[in-house]
Amino acid sequence: MIAKTIKDIKDTLPEGVKLIAVSKFHPVEAVMEAYNAGQRLFGENKVQEMTAKHEVLPKDIEWHFIGHLQTNKVKYIAPYVTMIHSIDSLHLLTEVNRQAEKANRVIDVLLQIHIAHEETKFGMTFDECRELLNKGSWKTLTHVRICGLMGMATFTDDMEQVEREFVSLQAFLEELKNSWFTGDATFKELSMGMTDDYPIAVRHGSTFVRIGTLIFGERNYNK
Ligand SMILES: *Cc1c(COP(=O)(O)O)cnc(C)c1O
Repeated sequence: MIAKTIKDIKDTLPEGVKLIAVSKFHPVEAVMEAYNAGQRLFGENKVQEMTAKHEVLPKDIEWHFIGHLQTNKVKYIAPYVTMIHSIDSLHLLTEVNRQAEKANRVIDVLLQIHIAHEETKFGMTFDECRELLNKGSWKTLTHVRICGLMGMATFTDDMEQVEREFVSLQAFLEELKNSWFTGDATFKELSMGMTDDYPIAVRHGSTFVRIGTLIFGERNYNK
């Protein structure tokens, strides 16, 4: 089932759009099933869970951290994480840089933007993000690479609203490409789209889709 779903999703994704299998709340056996089907990019939203999985699973897995990240926990993932999608402050970015330097690495990151019309979703507003970039000090951080933006659409059946939110994130990526990131070829990624909305996200320039439920089934939050 898992293998077939991954293949079916990959068949529909245009060239250059990467699939992150979101394995949060699912056991290592499920991750291994996806791994054996050729999947290498996995997403997790808790530091402890991702680190525990990293320790026991094959080392060529690329771990993407997609959840809210507390500064005091960055040190646990800095030695191995492939990309952090959830940078929402200069403070956090600076700590990732510090821990990356300690681990002798350069860590790829995305700036998380709040595009949903919900209180509960994390991320910066467009203005907060502009403000962060205006401060300029991020340019001196040599152990992080800002590769683009991440966003989550509102949890709603109104697919036109979801589409407007993705369109707004795509436009913001273009704005930043043409302002702070001119000539920076690494700033190009757009992490958007989940089980219910990834085809819409792909139509609007997503380069990373983060899919959990469709691949692994419903999550059991009571475990
Ligand atoms: C859980 C999660 C996903 C995957 O959601 P599904 O609806 O199960 O595909 C994607 N992105 C983030 C940030 C998540 O926390």
